[in-house]
Amino acid sequence: MTTIKPQPGIMQITPYVAGKSAAKGANKPTKLSSNENPLGPSPAARDSYIEVAKHLETYPPSDHADLRQVIANIHGLDPARIICGAGSDEVITFLCQTYAGPGDEVLYTEHGFSMYRISALAAGATPVVAPETDRTADVDAMLAACSPRTRLVFLANPNNPTGTMIPESEVARLAAGIPDTALLVLDGAYAEFVDGFDGHAGLVETRDNVVMTRTFSKIYGLGGARIGWGYGPASIIDALNRVRGPFNVSAAALAAAKAAVQDVAYTDHCRAENAKWRQWLRERLAISGVPSDESHANFILARFETAEQAEACDAFLQSKGLIVRNVAGYGLGTCLRITIGDEIACRNVAGAVDAFMKGARA
Ligand SMILES: *Cc1c(COP(=O)(O)O)cnc(C)c1O
Repeated sequence: MTTIKPQPGIMQITPYVAGKSAAKGANKPTKLSSNENPLGPSPAARDSYIEVAKHLETYPPSDHADLRQVIANIHGLDPARIICGAGSDEVITFLCQTYAGPGDEVLYTEHGFSMYRISALAAGATPVVAPETDRTADVDAMLAACSPRTRLVFLANPNNPTGTMIPESEVARLAAGIPDTALLVLDGAYAEFVDGFDGHAGLVETRDNVVMTRTFSKIYGLGGARIGWGYGPASIIDALNRVRGPFNVSAAALAAAKAAVQDVAYTDHCRAENAKWRQWLRERLAISGVPSDESHANFILARFETAEQAEACDAFLQSKGLIVRNVAGYGLGTCLRITIGDEIACRNVAGAVDAFMKGARA
């Protein structure tokens, strides 16, 4: 009889729950639960992906040199200090595997992305949660939660699922204040939705303790391809590359990402559409009695009066074929996260929430 057991920490992991994609009775539901781009990827990215299908026998390059060069050109970065992963999730996993183990602490904020906890536990490290203030990261609380055991401090800016953002000056204060034994990881999954924002790449350039992660899953519409990247000091990228599998990113994903990052006009178009409908939806929900914080991402965190009301609205939306994200697992049981869809999706969701609220009050 085997007595083998998972490594410490593994059984403490609550498996990640993805946004639902089916609704009872709706045969073509509208999925607004995973922050996907309703416009899809750039047509050039799709074409590049399909082209690779003609040569599936060929291994992808292991150094990702082409894609790193293109990312560097577009964002004004040093290609040698970029690492590509199967989604930015994989870069987060590399960071935890490389820098945190048993006895070490991994810090993130109260409503932070659930992969930070999962990756920390998978590495055998101890997750530590810093409280937020009004659903917004609080740098003083994060600094207070640091200890000599802190190795990684994760901050998504803008954050998912709250959509809130803290200013660069606050992020710089955090980078300067964490212990010398720790690294600040700035998760820029939604950076492209903020006009003119570099995802704190500038901070990476001026400090030796900051890493930035980015993804092709959100504004670039390539969630299904699984590709993301990280940017950091040379010594850190070198360490991460040692744990990275040589063929961790598929040839098709590399090709699609390369085309996507170069189609700047399409990205600009997606950013503008998202900003327009985000503002529209936020105002409409507020008129219906459902407030939300100003969001800097491609979703809105709609706040209800009670968890029961949020759950009832979720069920009502599902009955209309509209799938949004229950965020009770993020300590936000009174809220629903709604991805900004296309115009029709936004109009449908606004109409359905309004009908629900009128019914709820009747
Ligand atoms: C979606 C998301 C990611 C990126 O996930 P991928 O693995 O790149 O698809 C990372 N961080 C946050 C906060 C996210 O919301």
